[in-house]
Amino acid sequence: MENVKISFLGTGNAVPTEKRNHTAILLSFKNENILLDCGEGTQRQFKIARISPNKITRILITHWHGDHILGLPGLFQTLAMSEYSKTLHIYGPKGTSHYISLLKNLVNISIPIEVKEISGKFLETPDFFLEAHQMEHGIATLAYSLVIKDQIRIDKAKIKKLKLPNSPLLGKLQQGQDIIINNKKIKSKSVTYLEKGKKVTIILDTSFTNKTIDLAKNSDLLICESTFSKEEESRAKEYKHLTSVQAATIAKKAKVKQLILTHISQRYENNPEIIEGEAKKIFKNTKIVKDFDSLIV
Ligand SMILES: [Zn+2]
Ligand SMILES: [Zn+2]
Repeated sequence: MENVKISFLGTGNAVPTEKRNHTAILLSFKNENILLDCGEGTQRQFKIARISPNKITRILITHWHGDHILGLPGLFQTLAMSEYSKTLHIYGPKGTSHYISLLKNLVNISIPIEVKEISGKFLETPDFFLEAHQMEHGIATLAYSLVIKDQIRIDKAKIKKLKLPNSPLLGKLQQGQDIIINNKKIKSKSVTYLEKGKKVTIILDTSFTNKTIDLAKNSDLLICESTFSKEEESRAKEYKHLTSVQAATIAKKAKVKQLILTHISQRYENNPEIIEGEAKKIFKNTKIVKDFDSLIV
C-alpha cells in the first residue's frame, strides 16, 4: 500500500516561538515531496529534520500571509545554489503568479518555476489527485485535499498457483478485464483485489464555514488549524481563525478518521494540552502536533 508520510516542519502561528516555527508541512509518497506553505525559517527546519529541500517536487500555498510564505525567497536561493534541476511546480490562490514573480526578482534567481492559480481539482495522475477549495480568511485562501486513488492489484500468489506465464495480458486483469490465456478464461476478479485509497485534507487559516466540512468529507486524516482555545471564540471570529472546538466539529461532521491540530498560537506555548483536551471532548481521535513530528497514513 502506498503510504503518505507527513512531516510537520512548522506548527506555529503568526509569531514563531522557542518551540514552534511558522507553518510548513511536507507530504511524501512515491516520487512526490509536496511542501504545503513555507514560513520563515523553513529551510532550517528541513536541515534539522534531515530532509533535503532538493527533493521538493511541488509547493502548495494556502494564502499570502507572511507566516505561510516568507520562507520562499530563501528556499529559492538555496535550490538555485544546489542546482535544483526539476521544474518546481507552485500552486496557490489568485495573486500567486504575481507574488512569485516579485520574489524571484527580489532574490534574482532563475530556477525553472511553473506557477498555477488554481481552485477545484487541479492535478490528476493515475495514482492520485489534488483538490483545493476556497476558504474564508479575509484574503484569497485555499485548503487542500490529497486523494490517493483506489487501485486494483494483482494477487501474485494466485497468479503463481494458476501457473500463469508473465504476459502483458496480466495488465488487463489489473484494468478489471477478463482474459483468455492457454485456452483458459481467467476472471479479473478471481486474481485481483482492491486496495483502498486514502484522503488527507489540510485546512489552515479560515473562519468556521461549511466549505471546510465539504472538503474534509470522509478523509482518513484531517490536519486542521486550531489557533485558539474555545474561550477565545470571539477573537477567532475577529481574526478569521478556528478554535479547538470548531476544528473538532469539522472533523466530526466530515466523518474523518483522525484529526491533527496545528497552527497553534504562542499563547499556548506552555499548555498546548488545553487545545487538545477541548477538541478531544468532541472528536476523540485528536492529536496536537509539535515541530518535527511526523506520521504515516
Ligand atoms: Zn497563519
Ligand atoms: Zn493567515
